[in-house]
Amino acid sequence: MKYARLTAALMLAAAAIAQADEKVLNLYSARHYQTDEALYADFTKQTGIRINRIEGKEDELLERIRNEGANSPADVFLTVDAARLAKAHELGLFAPVSSKLLESRIPANLRTDDWFSFSTRARVIVYNKAAVKADEVRTYQDLANPRLKGKVCSRSGSHPYNLSLMASIIAHQGEPAAESWARGMVANFARAPKGGDTDQIKAVAAGECGVALSNTYYVARLMRSTKPEDLKVMDAVAVVWPDQATYGTHINVSGGGMLKTAPHKEAAVKFLEYLASDDAQRYFADGNNEWPAVAGIKVANPALEKLGPFKADNLPVGSLAMYQVKAQMIFDRAGFK
Ligand code: FE
Repeated sequence: MKYARLTAALMLAAAAIAQADEKVLNLYSARHYQTDEALYADFTKQTGIRINRIEGKEDELLERIRNEGANSPADVFLTVDAARLAKAHELGLFAPVSSKLLESRIPANLRTDDWFSFSTRARVIVYNKAAVKADEVRTYQDLANPRLKGKVCSRSGSHPYNLSLMASIIAHQGEPAAESWARGMVANFARAPKGGDTDQIKAVAAGECGVALSNTYYVARLMRSTKPEDLKVMDAVAVVWPDQATYGTHINVSGGGMLKTAPHKEAAVKFLEYLASDDAQRYFADGNNEWPAVAGIKVANPALEKLGPFKADNLPVGSLAMYQVKAQMIFDRAGFK
């Protein structure tokens, strides 16, 4: 009996070694765009490393990695939003990666010691052209102005996109100013927060609200849609790049890092480096109508081109991460549910 158990243990150990030797990368990804297929196939072609992909919702994947603990097969975790990447860091899931290539390719404000941004998205103001003037909504601060009473729609204050925006406001203006902004927003709500960014854009177009916040890729997706009802939505609204006269428009990121328990660490670093290459950057960003994190890479995306150039806030992503807890506390105090 004892002997059988020992044999089983040896077999398990042997299997683990085989797993580590195999040219394989286990990727946990919260991204699921068709263009990503070409991206992964190209990596395998270049390196001979096969990718096993586990896809899931952002928070579920993070939970799964936590539950798997030391036995997790995950090598790399890709997700969206600095808040979620920061959470993975705080849980101690990421391993520090030192790579000259990543350091030279990814701008310093878009990386930390253990996770890297590979694309950026901006949080813009979308307004109803018949109900609001562009000059009334030039800044995030404007959304808290009493003249917009009953006109502001929003998704939940607990959502990472709003938490990261709030974190940037805390970083730039301090907590008291951030709290009065949150209170002003709440006082202006047309309805209790619900739905995602696309729902807010549709509600703005329908006149249920005059103004809302949205990530740019949701705007671009509607702009590129072939459905007449989507184009009608975009006819009714216009977009403002907030805070162009000061810090620039808040940007968030999608990115990833290598896990501390990664069985294939060499392959993991290779994969992260690959994602910073010119071709991969173009695919990675454009697959979701985003911008490459690496500077100087041209993306031919008609919707992003139509939205035009803008000044982006270059606050380090690490600062967005640092203020997440404070951001949630302020939203809670302000009643921004
Ligand atoms: Fe999103």
